[in-house]
Amino acid sequence: MKFGILLGAALLASAAFTQAAETVVDDPYLRNPGDGSNWPGHGRDSGEQRYSPLAQINTDNVARLGVNWALDLPGERALIGTPLAVDGVIYFTGTYSRTRAVDARSGKVLWEYDPKTIEHAGDRLRIMWETNRGPAYYKGKLIITTVDGRLIALDAKNGKMLWETMTIDPRRAYYITGAPKVFRDKVIIGNGGTEHEAARGYVTAYDVNTGKQAWRFYVVPGNPADGFEDKAQEMAAKTWTGEWWKHGGGGNVWNGITYDAEFNQVLIGTGNGSPWNQKIRSPGGGDNLFLCSIVALDADSGEYKWHYQTTPGETWDYNSSMDIILADIKYGGQPIKALLHAPKNGFFYIINRANGELLSAEKFGKVTWAEKVDLKTGRPVEVKGARYESGEALVWPSPIGAHSWHPMSYNPNTGLVYIPTIEMAGVFNDKGIDPVKWQSPHFSIDPGVHFGTDDVPGNWSKAALIAWDPVNQKKVWEKTLPPNWNPGTMTTAGNLVFEGRADGVFVAYNATTGDELWKINVGSGITAAPITYSVDGKQQVALMVGWGGAALLTGTLAGQHGWKYKVHPRRLITFSLDGKLPMPPSPPPAFAQPIDPPTFKVDDQLAAAGQALYTSTCVQCHGSGVVSGGTAPDLRESPIPTSLEAFKSVVVGGARLANGMPQYRELSDAQLDGLMHYIRKQARASLAKK
Ligand code: CA
Repeated sequence: MKFGILLGAALLASAAFTQAAETVVDDPYLRNPGDGSNWPGHGRDSGEQRYSPLAQINTDNVARLGVNWALDLPGERALIGTPLAVDGVIYFTGTYSRTRAVDARSGKVLWEYDPKTIEHAGDRLRIMWETNRGPAYYKGKLIITTVDGRLIALDAKNGKMLWETMTIDPRRAYYITGAPKVFRDKVIIGNGGTEHEAARGYVTAYDVNTGKQAWRFYVVPGNPADGFEDKAQEMAAKTWTGEWWKHGGGGNVWNGITYDAEFNQVLIGTGNGSPWNQKIRSPGGGDNLFLCSIVALDADSGEYKWHYQTTPGETWDYNSSMDIILADIKYGGQPIKALLHAPKNGFFYIINRANGELLSAEKFGKVTWAEKVDLKTGRPVEVKGARYESGEALVWPSPIGAHSWHPMSYNPNTGLVYIPTIEMAGVFNDKGIDPVKWQSPHFSIDPGVHFGTDDVPGNWSKAALIAWDPVNQKKVWEKTLPPNWNPGTMTTAGNLVFEGRADGVFVAYNATTGDELWKINVGSGITAAPITYSVDGKQQVALMVGWGGAALLTGTLAGQHGWKYKVHPRRLITFSLDGKLPMPPSPPPAFAQPIDPPTFKVDDQLAAAGQALYTSTCVQCHGSGVVSGGTAPDLRESPIPTSLEAFKSVVVGGARLANGMPQYRELSDAQLDGLMHYIRKQARASLAKK
């Protein structure tokens, strides 16, 4: 009896101690992060399910959800990443990877770390996104990436830098926007850049304690004359033709990386070709391994284990960079350790992780480049003409993808996957491009095929949240959403799915039926996925509010919601049951007011030259057809490009460098003049439409 009391007291003491103690976020914990109090990894668990076992907020009471606290973040622009929550502290990366730790009880900022990305980047700002998809947490360290190519480990307690490593050759046009992943005392990261350079993709694993390189895997083979790095490269080289290495080949791993503890393997989702156009890249055809594939690598050595290629010989930017979810499912009556993957190309794949065997692949959206995937061969049955054999083709999906990087989530209770989808056509035209003479760009955009130089109309795309049954490969429910950029999803044991919308409304749905149960206007466009965790027994849902990302270059399509550059607030908001705080104020949607100085005479020839330069150089931030989607100022209303002197001071002189506007020292007055004529022409065209 006495012993029993003592044991009970000891247990109580140990329980109290456990509560106060720090959570050790290591491999077993990341694989199964316990009761839901923390969101310790990018996809919560290392299997990237984005499922929380918390059910305090559920279908019965979610209507009572309200603002717990809101932290406005002046100076932030793109807040698109997934925060982490560990022991009551929220960690997140913002614009240019500025990193903050915030007390989840109060919303108070505990520390900030600024990697000074703009200063490090220099001319690399030309190809950089300001976006970052989030940090990793591992054994007390917070690990972040910067778009200029660094991997940085911080002390999670105080934000002090422990080490930093440059992961790319700064002379090359690579960049990082992805979240690093951690496993077995290593941290792994890839990079992007296939549209900006003769890019050759790779991933690198580093020692998490020192930043020292452990291993590197190249996605595509280099020049055979230089010798292959490993046997996988030798095998891959047999699937390429011509002198692909001169164009890099591509395959950059800029997002989807999942550590699979059960097989001690890292699954990487590989990028598209560099350039997109296969006629240039590999003129005799071929599958071009390992583009657009899931590749399994041994986690300790980085050695190739198996691969499955979703788009052999890709020529449409259909990369497989989307997230890779690990799930135990029953397929054909058999329990399978599966991976679930819905890449840009519009097919939903179920693959056996033990050996890479394709079990099933079905269309989850509008797809016209292929009829189906032949399960016998594992290969898509392509539609004739889709490869713009004749010089042009209209195909679905667009290069933005039927599903982009915005994370999907998997709820093991409903057995459903919640996918943010986009239905948009791609217009591909390579007329007038000589595949032999074409040269890779260097810090500008050129995918080797014309992808449109005009504004994109607001109705050019449809967006939907779909609930997908992976076992039966069918849609269970669908919710039409405002176009175009469709944020990431999160699902819970409360039988809920949470997702933001492009129009600034945050919504909770019944996970089984898709019924809309709660919504709130957060005052700005949403791009990020939400998370959930609990503090002092209270479940919170957190969302970063900040419009941003690559699809904002689609002009009116992205700009239609009126999330104007620097006008609308950026904030981190947490919600809880009976949260009573009002939403902080936000200005109404705002739209550019193009100006038309009457003394400016537009010369069509100059404007045409300006258009070509704009499309390779300015478009990614200032938007198609000079219509800003919100990433950068709308040049149609800016007085700066109405005066050569003022325009030159910004573009050549770098007067707006601190805002992220790169410096183009080499541009001549004649080139600037061309840009000015094109900008004025577009401003007048939009005024004429009003
Ligand atoms: Ca791409």
